[in-house]
Amino acid sequence: MNKQIATSCTHDCPCGCSVLVTIKDGQIISHKADPRNPVTRNFLCIKGNRYIKRYASAERLLKPLRRKGTHFVTISWEDALDLAAEKLIQTRRESGPLSTLWAQYSGSLSLLNLIMPRIFWIHLGGSTITEGGISIDALQAAQKNDFGACLVHDPQDLENSKNIVIWGRNPAVTNIHLMPFIKEAREKGAKLTVIDPRYSETARLADHHIAPRPGGDGYLAIGVAKEIRRRQGNTQGFVTGRTNGWEDYLSMLDQYEDTDLCLKADVTDDQINHLASCYWNKGPCATFLGLGVNWW
Ligand code: SF4
Repeated sequence: MNKQIATSCTHDCPCGCSVLVTIKDGQIISHKADPRNPVTRNFLCIKGNRYIKRYASAERLLKPLRRKGTHFVTISWEDALDLAAEKLIQTRRESGPLSTLWAQYSGSLSLLNLIMPRIFWIHLGGSTITEGGISIDALQAAQKNDFGACLVHDPQDLENSKNIVIWGRNPAVTNIHLMPFIKEAREKGAKLTVIDPRYSETARLADHHIAPRPGGDGYLAIGVAKEIRRRQGNTQGFVTGRTNGWEDYLSMLDQYEDTDLCLKADVTDDQINHLASCYWNKGPCATFLGLGVNWW
């Protein structure tokens, strides 16, 4: 008898699709998007649709391999587990629990994957773990410093936007389940601005495409901030009451001339004014960042 279970895609992907898997005699025989998830919306991407092909592929690695000189030999799971246990016991006996580095990072994501290793290492008496990274960790630290938290808009709230700014991100390829929400918001009158040096798949759909030179969007951001500040005039109480280091930030803005910023970012005055208007007087504006604003 067939059994259906609800699960999720484990790819490291912001869509986080819900998946329904059908199992017969202990084998997965089919899978599809779970229509109950309002973001998944009953479709998976090409990678998600190929799960079964990968699952059943003759090239899929099902047995542990042990390196012998320049090549690998297949060993049993029992031997692999014994070998790993032996090494762990030996190094911990010789040098203590911190001698083992648990290198955790991205890859396949799931609650099982996030929680089980923690339980394992806690039961074993601890380990050294990696802290930070060269990719998304740096972005998250920067966003926490800038905004106090690393949050993103609920896609279902996009319909309330008058402007959507996608800054250094290409969701038409990398976050395809965001696109139907953007399309619906545009049908209700929202304008889409994409900031990307490339004429990306998302830029092709945009009302405005701003293409700063690579690494120049930090200057673009400064130009926009200066323009918003001009428009604010003396009504900055809202900002000063809710930020730290505002005066230092203003001093930093003052170090740059407008014409210099346009040259450094390789954008026009009109483009800076357009972005300032999105944020200042044509709101509400939703912003989706890629891996942060780039700087030099
Ligand atoms: S879009 Fe594709 S890779 Fe991303 S979560 Fe959905 S099925 Fe997985």
